[in-house]
Amino acid sequence: MSATRNKTRRAVARRLARGAKRARPAAAAKLPAKRAVNAPPQIVLYRLCKPGWAVTVERAPNAQGTRFVCPFCPLSHRVPGPVRGFRKMRRAQWVKLRHVEG
Ligand SMILES: [Zn+2]
Repeated sequence: MSATRNKTRRAVARRLARGAKRARPAAAAKLPAKRAVNAPPQIVLYRLCKPGWAVTVERAPNAQGTRFVCPFCPLSHRVPGPVRGFRKMRRAQWVKLRHVEG
């Protein structure tokens, strides 16, 4: 009894697999449009209080701002999105960046 059941299940699985294979080209064609909807994360750099150091911030379109604890001072600063990391950069570049808030 269980053998018959298994056989049926396998047949269904095979059918599903074939169906998935056939559906794949259509899904692939749809992919670029989907990617445009959820656009790649925009990375922005903000000046930190310590000279030469910047914070890497991912700008989410619907983000309300995030606070992060600064590694260089006892305060926390506000940025427009989730923090992705800190980066040391050349002073000339760093001076051009916008300063973090707060
Ligand atoms: Zn700071």
